[in-house]
Amino acid sequence: MKTIAVCLFIACLSCPLTGIAREKYEEDTIQTSDGDLKITFIGHATLMFTFQGKIIHVDPVSREADYAQMPKADLILVTHEHGDHLDPAAIRSIRTDKTIVVLPQLCAEKIQSGIVIKNGDEKDLCGLHIQAVPAYNIVHKRDNGQPYHPKGNGNGYVIQFGDKKVYVAGDTETIPEMKKLEEIDVAFLPMNLPYTMSPEMVTEAAQAFKPKILYPYHYGDTDTDKLLKRMKGVDEIEVRIRNMK
Ligand code: ZN
Ligand code: ZN
Repeated sequence: MKTIAVCLFIACLSCPLTGIAREKYEEDTIQTSDGDLKITFIGHATLMFTFQGKIIHVDPVSREADYAQMPKADLILVTHEHGDHLDPAAIRSIRTDKTIVVLPQLCAEKIQSGIVIKNGDEKDLCGLHIQAVPAYNIVHKRDNGQPYHPKGNGNGYVIQFGDKKVYVAGDTETIPEMKKLEEIDVAFLPMNLPYTMSPEMVTEAAQAFKPKILYPYHYGDTDTDKLLKRMKGVDEIEVRIRNMK
């Protein structure tokens, strides 16, 4: 028995760290013209993409994973400065000398480094074409009248993986810039009030830019069935629910 336990331990040590993530988190694979894109659903607004041997972390935060155990990053994308998206300790854990960190100005000030990308900017980084889309509130505001997410502070990202475009929206509502997006294959849209969108707003957004696959994320206690009911009959969009509370 002891021998088996030791062997298992060694097997685990010798397997790549991605293997550990594979056991713990849900994963989907999307086929692209340049090979498979693996999506690892870490939780809430936190994702990991694996593509052509590269690891791309999105909004890595310690409350969703032990980043000391996660694969080191080739690229880190941060959407905005809120604590459920920007965690300097998690970034430190997965950053190497070669890691490219892409983030909005407010986040760069907090970690004193990184490549700042503004709303509307497009850059080729880490072999990927990345477009920063605005992310902000129009309707929902704090008691002091300030939107939860003022325009300009945060980015959503459209990342091109081979022939597939993946949109990670960040914390936002259904904004005109989102509705204008074209040819999005996979979209992550946030769904929790009052900070982001209701199932109704997510439905409106999805019907405007028609991603082929829609993942609601950052959904907290929102009833995902409400979205599924509203999207029933919208055959061109596949809604996938993953554990992204
Ligand atoms: Zn936020
Ligand atoms: Zn958030």
